[in-house]
Amino acid sequence: MLPLYRPSLTDSYGRQIKDLRISITDRCNFRCVYCMPESGVEWKKKSEILSYEELTYLAEIFVSLGVTKLRVTGGEPLLRRGVINFIRSLASIQGLEDLALTTNAYFLPEYAERLAKSGLKRISISIDSLKPKAFELLTKVNALGRVLEGIDAAQKYNLTPIKINMVVMRHINESEIVDFASFAREKNLIARYIEYMPLDGPGEWSRDLVVSGREIFEKINAVYPLMLLSPNHKSETAKRFGFADGAGGEIGIIAPVTEPFCGACSRIRLTADGQIRTCLFSLSEHNLRDVLRSGASLEQIRQFIINAVLKKEDGHKINKPDFVAPERTMSCIGG
Ligand code: SF4
Repeated sequence: MLPLYRPSLTDSYGRQIKDLRISITDRCNFRCVYCMPESGVEWKKKSEILSYEELTYLAEIFVSLGVTKLRVTGGEPLLRRGVINFIRSLASIQGLEDLALTTNAYFLPEYAERLAKSGLKRISISIDSLKPKAFELLTKVNALGRVLEGIDAAQKYNLTPIKINMVVMRHINESEIVDFASFAREKNLIARYIEYMPLDGPGEWSRDLVVSGREIFEKINAVYPLMLLSPNHKSETAKRFGFADGAGGEIGIIAPVTEPFCGACSRIRLTADGQIRTCLFSLSEHNLRDVLRSGASLEQIRQFIINAVLKKEDGHKINKPDFVAPERTMSCIGG
């Protein structure tokens, strides 16, 4: 174990960085419309992608700098061979408090048991429709059945609480907002609604396709009266609601466009090709991979990370006239 370097990793706005999202692959078996073009993107070459040894070593360094929560993402992380052993190696990092994974659940029926046994704490599942046809239109894959099986498997092996994340898009899946709440009640899940963000490869995002957090709340509250819950921690991105009638399940509303929460942001990202992204919407990156592969010492790597965090943006500029969407698509950032 690496000695704790210092109590916290803080940016120039005084925000403590506690969460690292590690993308382990840019590949995915889905083509979600808000994430990547139907034709896909040019995959990174194997040599550009960090090995599991490199990823584990860097994760240890981030934890020694004060990161306490790791989230494994992709592309689709369960597509990368060896992911179970990787999760196991992350789970053994001392000082780590939370280890989560974000997946499209397609491979969960086969992986859930081994993920649970490897030390994974909890799971978030991206699912944007509960209707087979609409699901296929949105992901270009006829796989709703498998994804629902995946949710059952995650529940069976206690990868709980399970969050199901829906990106709400006007005229596309907004009609299913209440269905998702019903599903969360029925299955005792956390249904999280995410406002559509301009991170889609095809560049089809526009403000009038955004269904605001307020609207989402009102649609659900009209059918299932909601009560506000306190946040789990101060940098929680979702506003949490319980069902006033005491039913199981929970609602989370994430409104980065209409109610930005950047002021309390505690997140940074490491892409599969080893770039530090200090914000989801960063227009510049910090090439940690080449520093690592240049034979840099532990101290040099730490200093590189500390300097990168000191350059963390104050927040996204989506609501600013000069907003520029990042070139990287969501599939190459990892959400
Ligand atoms: S947009 Fe950037 S600064 Fe804002 S919450 Fe997301 S990652 Fe943090």
